[in-house]
Amino acid sequence: MKGISEIRHYQIGRQQVVVMWKNVRNVSLKVAPPDAEVRMSVPSGYPEAKVLELLESKRDWIDKAVSKVKKRAEATPTKHDPAILRAWIEEFKPMLEKWEQRMGLRAAKVSFKMMTSRWGSCRASTRSLTFNLMLAYKPQECVEYVIIHELAHIVHPNHSPQFWDLVGRYCPDYRRLRHLLNNP
Ligand SMILES: [Zn+2]
Repeated sequence: MKGISEIRHYQIGRQQVVVMWKNVRNVSLKVAPPDAEVRMSVPSGYPEAKVLELLESKRDWIDKAVSKVKKRAEATPTKHDPAILRAWIEEFKPMLEKWEQRMGLRAAKVSFKMMTSRWGSCRASTRSLTFNLMLAYKPQECVEYVIIHELAHIVHPNHSPQFWDLVGRYCPDYRRLRHLLNNP
């Protein structure tokens, strides 16, 4: 793989961790869905002792992140009935229209995809919105929150305080709904 100079595996507490020395500037640590694989990237030449020290200091964080990702994967059906998804998209459309009208914002293009790490995305420059089909298995209030969130990105393509102000204006309960979505 491009830019990777070395890969090693470590056992940190209960977790296996894959560490990649690669052509990056910063250390990053993440737990990747759906298998909750723990991956760390460090700059080439980064000392192994520091890697181990960092992993030890992050032990609790890793355990928590792994159980969160696993729990989410379990709560997620893996077989999808296309008829159910099509029906859901039909229900979704009027919801989107309702919020477009209320917020005075219009998506130019809307698409649906199975995604593992996000509920939606917005390319503000083209007003293209993408929604995760997994939302079909979520409560309607959460779906509406995601719609409001992505529409608000047309105005603020970031997560600035101004962005959250706008979301909060149409969805005062967004903190609870976001929590509900991410902690099934
Ligand atoms: Zn966002």
